Amino acid sequence: MIIDGSKAFSNQTLEVDYCIIGSGSGGAFAASLLSEKGYKVAIIEEGPYQKTSDFKDMRESRAYPELYQELASRKTKNKAVNILQGRNVGGGTTVNWTTCFRTPENTLKYWRDNFDLPFTSDSLAHHFEVCEKRFSISPWEIPPNTNNSLLAKGMSALGREYGHISRNVKDCYNLGYCGVGCPTGAKQSQLVTSIPRALALGAILAPRWRAYRLAHQFGKVSRLEAYNLPGLGNQTGEIKLTIKAREFIVAAGAIGTPALLMRSRISDASGLLGKRTFIHPTVISGAIFEDEVQPYLGAPQSIYSDHYLWQDYGFKLEVPPVHPVLLASTLMQKGDRHRELMLKLNNLQVCIALQRDGFFKDSVGGNVELNSHGEPVLDYEWSEAMGEGFKQALLAMAELQFAAGAKEVLPIHASASTCTSIDQLSRMLDGLSMQALAVKVVAAHVMGGACFGTSEKQSVTNLDGRVWRYHNLSVMDGSLFPTSIAANPMLSILGHTHRIYS
Ligand SMILES: Cc1cc2nc3c(=O)[nH]c(=O)nc-3n(C[C@H](O)[C@H](O)[C@H](O)COP(=O)(O)OP(=O)(O)OC[C@H]3O[C@@H](n4cnc5c(N)ncnc54)[C@H](O)[C@@H]3O)c2cc1C
Ligand code: SF4
Repeated sequence: MIIDGSKAFSNQTLEVDYCIIGSGSGGAFAASLLSEKGYKVAIIEEGPYQKTSDFKDMRESRAYPELYQELASRKTKNKAVNILQGRNVGGGTTVNWTTCFRTPENTLKYWRDNFDLPFTSDSLAHHFEVCEKRFSISPWEIPPNTNNSLLAKGMSALGREYGHISRNVKDCYNLGYCGVGCPTGAKQSQLVTSIPRALALGAILAPRWRAYRLAHQFGKVSRLEAYNLPGLGNQTGEIKLTIKAREFIVAAGAIGTPALLMRSRISDASGLLGKRTFIHPTVISGAIFEDEVQPYLGAPQSIYSDHYLWQDYGFKLEVPPVHPVLLASTLMQKGDRHRELMLKLNNLQVCIALQRDGFFKDSVGGNVELNSHGEPVLDYEWSEAMGEGFKQALLAMAELQFAAGAKEVLPIHASASTCTSIDQLSRMLDGLSMQALAVKVVAAHVMGGACFGTSEKQSVTNLDGRVWRYHNLSVMDGSLFPTSIAANPMLSILGHTHRIYS
């Protein structure tokens, strides 16, 4: 049953066993696992329910407003970081780039040593194996596209390690349009896996409803109040959906989940609700090659390098899919210079460096706050040392791009210009500020803000995502992590969902 809020004309009330808020990696998978156990589940989602057939045009101009949070223009409070998050049935998985990594053992060790979390690679292995099977996650056997193969070529020329990425795809056409919704249904997102499974087992899907408040008393949630979203954006209407349930699972993503809990005045003895929100702050390096790269074609991410990941303020190297709107809105250039670079799109190779935030004393993440309309805003700043990490990352990317044969390299920065040698670029970087709004920082991995743990003084939920002191309220999404994952987070979220709800 589907109750579309954009078409609703009267208030409604539902009564179910489980009310799940958010239909991304955590929410949709939990919904299908609980439906398999015979529970009556309702999934409340503020984004639209779009299908594979809606993605056939492969256009950014359709996808960003319809499938992304804040029409793809979500930013941190100081506007220094562009945050890409999904806002649709399937959440981030409908628009993500299909890269799958298990949680690195180094991250789990850091959690054991610093947060008293018991997880090891061995204890989680079974859950990852099940998810890998269920969501068709396997090494990508097709040769990487040029954008990715140049990352491999550069690292190999420098004698540094790189690896091949596993993807969650079945019969993939290697198109490269995963970010605007896979038009073939090959990507095994939650949209084409868990959602249809849950619906077939009797779940109710309620798209275009925004969960506004959880009503609760004496540690028990009695109902969720949601409002319809009649237009394209996030403006709520007057029509109300009330859901009464035995259990409530908040899976609205690592900005939406703390926001709903804060709006609902959920008590939190740790003071950590909405705190320590991590984003893998990501800096970007563009390089022009003599031969065509066509960075918009082919599986978006198939090569990575962890060569620099475990150094202080370390970073994971990957490449993004480069489509025109994404590029135009990322280049920090103006007028003729912007036009000139846009015209070189076919010869452009782009590397990204994702910093592992949360592992250092001064890398404390951001805070989710509510603005005067009750909407979440992420306040995220970085220290000077993290900024130095960005500088090292820009240098490392330029080094590998030149080693792969780049003619020119441009770190994405308001005051940078293209350089033709690594020495010239290194000298330029020395003089560049790494402060907010000077260097371009983007993020597509939001984590933390409602961390799990073993004591209510040091965490928002217990190890099973149950909010301390509440009998029937849980969190199940990327909010649970006490640091960033230091790898693309989807499989980590799926693994914990299986651990808790299977
Ligand atoms: C462009 C892009 C590329 C990415 N590439 C990769 C990749 O290749 N590999 C990888 O591992 N990760 C990738 N990610 C990240 C990954 O998709 C996310 O980390 C993951 O999906 C997060 O899962 P989640 O359950 O925490 O939340 P989400 O998947 O974000 O789901 C949360 C859902 O809750 C909904 N919601 C929020 N607030 C409310 C509310 N108040 N009421 C109702 N609904 C609400 C949102 O609309 C959303 O659909 C990418 C993300 C993006 C945006
Ligand atoms: S690369 Fe594969 S998964 Fe991505 S959009 Fe194309 S067919 Fe879909």
